Amino acid sequence: MTEKFLVLDVDETLLNIEPLFFLEKFKKNYKDYTGKLIFDKYYLSPRPGVDEFIREAKKHFKLIAFSVVSKEITVKKLKALNILDNFIKIYGKEDLQNGKKSLKKIADDLNVSMNDITAIDDIPESFLEQEKIIKIKSWFIGDGREDDALMSVFKDLEPNVKVFS
Ligand SMILES: [Mg+2]
Repeated sequence: MTEKFLVLDVDETLLNIEPLFFLEKFKKNYKDYTGKLIFDKYYLSPRPGVDEFIREAKKHFKLIAFSVVSKEITVKKLKALNILDNFIKIYGKEDLQNGKKSLKKIADDLNVSMNDITAIDDIPESFLEQEKIIKIKSWFIGDGREDDALMSVFKDLEPNVKVFS
């Protein structure tokens, strides 16, 4: 069985971070959400179900994070939510190709086939290979605290998982 890789977008897929002034101005009741203050005046909140999702996903895939924000900031956010150690590699803004994320770049870096890589993103168009990306609804602080989109997406992935195995 070859190893499979799952590339996860970060912002609005796994978490949401917003400036406090914005959350207060638009009355987002952020204090009702699990999360923490970070970078001085920001609130960082995990998408509901992120821990469960990662636990399940790790049974089938090696996880990779890919953000359009810098790698340094991305690492800090994932660390703040205690999920950093689940990822074998973190990609950031520095790794974009002509302003886009690329599965090809990851495949080349890891020396694996593109067929062994799947990705989830709330903005599939952020990838050069957008037709291969599984879209998830964006999640923001103020949205449902019962959101189950991550586990739902995982169920959509399961047919692949079976084909993979
Ligand atoms: Mg996103």
